[in-house]
Amino acid sequence: MMLIDGKKVSTDLKNELKTRVEELKAKAGCVPGLTVIIVGEDPASQVYVRNKAKSCKETGMNSTVIELPAETSQKELLGKIEALNQDPDVHGILVQQPLPSHIEEYAVTMAIDPSKDVDGFHPENVGQMVLGNLDKCFISCTPFGILELLRRYDIETRGKHCVVVGRSNIVGKPMANLMLQKLRETNCTVTVCHSATQNMPELTRQADILIAAIGRANFITREMVKPGAVVIDVGINRIEDPSRKSGFRLAGDVDFDNVAKMTSAITPVPGGVGPMTIAMLLKNTLQSFARSHNL
Ligand code: NDP
Repeated sequence: MMLIDGKKVSTDLKNELKTRVEELKAKAGCVPGLTVIIVGEDPASQVYVRNKAKSCKETGMNSTVIELPAETSQKELLGKIEALNQDPDVHGILVQQPLPSHIEEYAVTMAIDPSKDVDGFHPENVGQMVLGNLDKCFISCTPFGILELLRRYDIETRGKHCVVVGRSNIVGKPMANLMLQKLRETNCTVTVCHSATQNMPELTRQADILIAAIGRANFITREMVKPGAVVIDVGINRIEDPSRKSGFRLAGDVDFDNVAKMTSAITPVPGGVGPMTIAMLLKNTLQSFARSHNL
């Protein structure tokens, strides 16, 4: 069994990006910039936003965090986004989810200029991805990070059966779509499972590549996995653990302890897909910068 080390790959990738940032900064005479907006005080979101800002600075890019109170109106938020759309020093705009319930996520997604939508959520980016025009869009960071792991670990995907469990707009759907594309690290036959799927273990057991993005700790058990499969665990679930200072530990969607030994390769949680998501956000921001300067 091979452990797919997302922490190491993301560190390598960030080092590569750092070099590229230096090159592009010299050519353009200015600095790439990412602005993250957070509305409200969700503790998990605050950690994610802090990590994004820190990684951004580490690679030599500018990072701004705009913290807005939970009562911020949708109109005010859209006004902020519009100002960032117009700001030539901002190359990436990200609005951290979840948003307070009085703000419509769709309106926010639509408000971000697609050329600065480094999360890859805008329909223009999603549409270009579906069409296979991957050089004309931003790919949603988590699925993009998984492609990078498959590529760097040289995992054979061509013609394989990939089963994706989960169909969210940010992970499951783009993931399934990408695995279908004709790329070296994809080109699979794809099945997508969700909460209405019947006989799910029968389907997951057919997977050469099994990608779990469900949000339920240890959901994928031994009986659901084909021996020798490649298993990618996207889930990040908090489990109460009084022995930890934080009071919780993280678990994936895969029952790692029982599944890992029967796989050919697997991502751990933490340290698998998670760190890749941030690295790909930085990659997308640099891409946006390069495109805006025709580099
Ligand atoms: P969502 O809750 O948006 O989607 C979960 C999906 O899983 C849905 O499509 C749902 O089906 C499906 N599902 C839920 N329960 C079952 C079930 N019992 N049987 C079959 N399918 C089920 O979650 P996300 O896609 O946003 O995230 C999934 C997980 O990945 C979470 O743990 C999240 O924290 C993590 N995550 C990790 C990231 C990373 O960087 N590593 C980034 C983003 C997310 P249905 O559509 O029918 O409701």
